[in-house]
Amino acid sequence: MQHPEAILPPFAADDALHNNGFIRQLAVVAKNTAFLCGLLRPTIEDPNNTESTSYAPFTLFPSPVPRKLFTEAFEVQQDFNMLVDRVSQDSEFLTKALASTVQVDEFTAGLFSIYKQVLEEGITQTITLGINRSDYMFQKGQDHSTSLKQIEINTVAAGLAGLAERVPDVHRHVLNFWGKSDEAAKILTNNAAKGIAEGIAKAWQLYGSPEAAVLFLVEKDARNIFDQRCLEMELWGKNIRVIRRLFLDIHERGVLDDEKILFVDGYEIAVVYFRTGFDPMDYHNDDCWVARLLIERSKAIKCPDIATHLVGTKKIQQELARSGMVEKFLTDCPKSAERIRATFVGLYSIDEGPEGDEIIKKAVEDPEAFVLKPQREGGGNNIFGEELKQLLGNIKDGPKRSAYILMDKIKPQTVKNYLLRPGSAFKLSECVVELGVFGVYIRKCQKLVMNESSGYLLRTKSTESAGGGVSVGVSVLDTPYLI
Ligand code: ADP
Ligand code: MG
Repeated sequence: MQHPEAILPPFAADDALHNNGFIRQLAVVAKNTAFLCGLLRPTIEDPNNTESTSYAPFTLFPSPVPRKLFTEAFEVQQDFNMLVDRVSQDSEFLTKALASTVQVDEFTAGLFSIYKQVLEEGITQTITLGINRSDYMFQKGQDHSTSLKQIEINTVAAGLAGLAERVPDVHRHVLNFWGKSDEAAKILTNNAAKGIAEGIAKAWQLYGSPEAAVLFLVEKDARNIFDQRCLEMELWGKNIRVIRRLFLDIHERGVLDDEKILFVDGYEIAVVYFRTGFDPMDYHNDDCWVARLLIERSKAIKCPDIATHLVGTKKIQQELARSGMVEKFLTDCPKSAERIRATFVGLYSIDEGPEGDEIIKKAVEDPEAFVLKPQREGGGNNIFGEELKQLLGNIKDGPKRSAYILMDKIKPQTVKNYLLRPGSAFKLSECVVELGVFGVYIRKCQKLVMNESSGYLLRTKSTESAGGGVSVGVSVLDTPYLI
């Protein structure tokens, strides 16, 4: 689909620029600078060998982002932190909201059974650390105004803060090389990983055992290693030991003592920071589930705990969008509820019954107006267009429906940029941007002792790709050029 109104940043609006050799020269400079700044990712062919590394994909220049919406996204993040934290403590709501999903979605059922078990046994840790990322697009209205609309909130393994912190330096250099130093000076610094590290460090401190370590629970495929290392280095810089382990390591060598203190390879663990565990493939055998349960039962501060992980499911996002629901959780903060509500588009349950039947009918008639979402994270799982129509046709007469939700499709303002990806053609593409804002909070007993918006992630992809993120090779890293 062509979007003639796709915008360029003001400094790149001259058509002649895109037809001369200088732009290719700029791309070479940009890629070289990416290596110098540590914007790196192991290759897909050899993901566990960091000696086989290339640059992480990114845009040639920063993309235009409305200043007003960028500010709004930062302002509403503390509201979202509060909401996620409160929802995570309401077991009645979580149980009821997920009841139909756990009947048909084996993975969510697995997580839910761990949640139930630890609730019954009693939660051993009174300190909660939440690190999330709320993602948005800039929806274009009839009158060409734009508004901030939430795609989803990630409450587990919200990544890319480390690499996102490094993109501004690359873009600044590109603009300086181009002779646009005024524009370069306007590029925002991003403290996403530093902010997250502050949160982990504070939780570690509150845990109160100076010798204890922070455990990064990571996936076997180490393609995100440099992103994670950025965060690890921040923590080591604060004299906090970080160890990296897989679920299987925890299963083999993790133990709880009589007071449920978690030890791994002899290290007491203060904080378990999950960078895996959100996808069924992360639990490739039962031992991984046993390890997750062991962690959940322990006294370590889990980031996230299992309840907060569940709050990030698509089903909970949809249930919270019901009229009055956010407001119920934030009765004492009506302004927060209002700010949050303003970012929602329509989200619909398609559980069996007249409400589900009606919306399925609408979506089958107009598939381009909706996105069909299973309870999965990590990109590449959503269903669009003709495929959505077909799938709804296949599942509409049975309980399998409850494994999905429907969402209004956001029609965003489009931009133009060059997507730099190892091995990809160099061309000016029509793109959409997705802004993520990281949130960090800590609750001690019933009190929030930290509640911060901490940095951003801007991802850009061609309008030709419907779903997917940086990890699945669709989006690339970007920085906002506020307009
Ligand atoms: P995941 O957990 O897989 O990241 P998301 O809800 O973030 O799931 O969706 C993945 C991608 O699909 C998003 O990055 C976005 O590009 C696209 N997408 C999701 N929801 C919508 C929507 N309502 N409108 C338009 N695009 C969407
Ligand atoms: Mg997403």
